[in-house]
Amino acid sequence: MTSKPKSRPLVALTGQGAARPAGEVWLVGAGPGDPELLTLKALKALQRADVVVHDGLVTEAILDLAPATARRLSVAKRKSRHSYAQDEINRLLVAFAREGLTVVRLKGGDPFIFGRGGEELEACRAAGVVCHVVPGVTAALAAGASAGAPLTHRGAAQAVTFVTGHAAAGGAPDLDWASLARPNQTVVVYMGVSMAGPIAARLIEAGRAGSTPALIVEDASLPTEWRIVTTLAGLPAAAQGVSGPALLIVGEAMALALQSAHPGEGRDPGLLSEGAAAGRKSLGPGLRRDERIRGQAS
Ligand code: SAH
Repeated sequence: MTSKPKSRPLVALTGQGAARPAGEVWLVGAGPGDPELLTLKALKALQRADVVVHDGLVTEAILDLAPATARRLSVAKRKSRHSYAQDEINRLLVAFAREGLTVVRLKGGDPFIFGRGGEELEACRAAGVVCHVVPGVTAALAAGASAGAPLTHRGAAQAVTFVTGHAAAGGAPDLDWASLARPNQTVVVYMGVSMAGPIAARLIEAGRAGSTPALIVEDASLPTEWRIVTTLAGLPAAAQGVSGPALLIVGEAMALALQSAHPGEGRDPGLLSEGAAAGRKSLGPGLRRDERIRGQAS
């Protein structure tokens, strides 16, 4: 008995002699924000897009690389206004692809690092929709690069761990603190700014020295990038004035990190007082960040 192929393509009779070709989904990492950190593959995928479904971390400069005719849809997660639930996003991607469209699902950083890309891929697979994944530069890599602080470093960081600072149920995340507290490793916390206090406390309780070098990088790779060099014990105070997307990075190798430069600032952690950080919010928008910090620190 000859075996039949498992499935045959269905031919839709449109009356014009051609079936509408199947669409597909491209799950694309947009990188940390700087359009130059987009991969060539991401750029090519964007240039072929019929529709771009993007989240809030993707900058206009990157969206503008899609054809002017491409439909743009923001599914940014907002705390107060209606936002798309993950299953609505999954359904949208599948529905657009079934329309025969080339769908680019554009996500900040890498789609598989705290980006829920896995769920979107599963939804496409379950629906029989072809889904390609294009990796992106995750925020941690951009933050380390611009601070001049390697995430692994001979003798100072034999491992690097990316963790989320966000617990689904609120409060401090349920992480293996004992393991993260061991020396000579770098811990990068995504979505951790509002939890900087509990996170630092858990690490210190578990045995990580409060004097361990630490770094906060906000808006990594963007013109608004802001880096604060501190210590694990100083992390909660330093995190207070941070309002944009930011990473907390803890580890011996962060001793190499360069704070955002402005005249007279250098790498003096004394400028990182609570007041200095909070001052960024209260001073006028016309001032540059460094002026705002200086204004408060003096
Ligand atoms: N997929 C993304 C991460 C999404 S989770 C990636 O691979 O980078 C969102 C968190 O990422 C933010 O809360 C923040 O912690 C971090 N993040 C994203 N972009 C950032 C940037 N440009 N600078 C600093 N942190 C960033």
